[in-house]
Amino acid sequence: MHSPLPASLRDVYERALARNAGETEFHQALLEVLESIAPVVEHRPDYIESGVLERLVEPERQIMFRVPWQDDSGAVHVNRGFRVQYNSALGPYKGGLRFHPSVNLGIVKFLGFEQIFKNALTGQGIGGGKGGSDFDPHGRSDNEVMRFTQSFMTEVYRHIGEHTDVPAGDIGVGAREIGYLFGQYRRLTNRHESGVLTGKTVLWGGAQVRTEATGYGAVFFLEEMLATRGESVAGRTAVVSGSGNVAVYAIQKLQQLGARPITASDSSGYVVDDAGIDLDLLKQVKEVERLRVSEYAARRPGARFVSTGSVWDVPGDLVLPCATQNELDAAHASTLIRNGAVAVAEGANMPCTPTAVEAFQDAGLLFAPGKAANAGGVATSALEMSQNASRQRWDFESSEDRLRDIMRDIHSSAFEAADLYGRPGDYVIGANAAGFTRVADAMLAQGLV
Ligand code: GLU
Repeated sequence: MHSPLPASLRDVYERALARNAGETEFHQALLEVLESIAPVVEHRPDYIESGVLERLVEPERQIMFRVPWQDDSGAVHVNRGFRVQYNSALGPYKGGLRFHPSVNLGIVKFLGFEQIFKNALTGQGIGGGKGGSDFDPHGRSDNEVMRFTQSFMTEVYRHIGEHTDVPAGDIGVGAREIGYLFGQYRRLTNRHESGVLTGKTVLWGGAQVRTEATGYGAVFFLEEMLATRGESVAGRTAVVSGSGNVAVYAIQKLQQLGARPITASDSSGYVVDDAGIDLDLLKQVKEVERLRVSEYAARRPGARFVSTGSVWDVPGDLVLPCATQNELDAAHASTLIRNGAVAVAEGANMPCTPTAVEAFQDAGLLFAPGKAANAGGVATSALEMSQNASRQRWDFESSEDRLRDIMRDIHSSAFEAADLYGRPGDYVIGANAAGFTRVADAMLAQGLV
């Protein structure tokens, strides 16, 4: 059970609610962090006295802009673009861009706020930021996506830079979009500034393993958690949601480590494949042909497509929500617990609702919050920035080794912080407390800015 917020934190929370009315996902992310750091500020009243919390909840800068573009028939569309530069105490703002119709300021702020602590946990010297647009890439031609993306960059280029703010991908923004963004940046600035964006293609400055990193990292984190109980992923079934980058590479790493992932999903429904997901087919359907996940079931004997209920109705030992925020609620959690799940690792950002998290923890499951479990993506983005700055190119194997080491470090930071603050095994408290302390100490050291 969550304890009530102490008065000093409740004041910060209430002022933030009043100032950011209606931004429910942001409020949710804020409350989770404030609850987690209550035991930290108890020992460190200077964090309150110096206004660190008051400052931390307010983004350093919020940019909101018009993105006009023309579709293939010549019709004009206007979308809204965002870049929230949340906190740069530990390094340049770093975080993805999301192109999805659900994007609004509150969503970008929740993601940007989470990113601060996630990035701090990686130990890689990166601040927190996030951006995106309510543009819906679904059903748009390649040329439409390019025109939209170029228009987006035409505003954003003046706010970013390798020492200022380094965007990357997120939902709806992958290698194709990063390519168009980079091309437009290069044209506008006359600079081949590799370090201004991450998630680039390896041919022109991208890092090995960046594509795989979020999914791989989530599975490495899961392995670390299971190891604390003398267990591993090998031989276990896994229920995975999503079919984008995170889900695909979580499935791949699970398979490499001897687990059997049996599901994938998108907004139209989910597929169950008891023989284990055929990854080549999933990639062909989702990445190459950009079709619905039902097409996977149509082409794969023995697999079935389900458009009702939820992927969380499928029994499995390991649970990896890799789609989007609040996709797994308390009812789903109790179904999964009843069906014998042992561990949950959030591949997406905040996919489990607060009551779902509580249910998992109360039932004694291992639970890894996204800001720890999915930090491998942004950590590998930081490795991409290092390679760009030093004009080096590391091979796949050593890059994967570094990712594994970083995920181990994140696990031990979160594990040890949970112990330190009297909540052993609580990775939510541990990850938030460990990330927060790093950012707060950097802010204190840098004075009132
Ligand atoms: N969008 C990813 C995340 O949520 C990656 C961000 C990045 O690489 O900058 O962490």
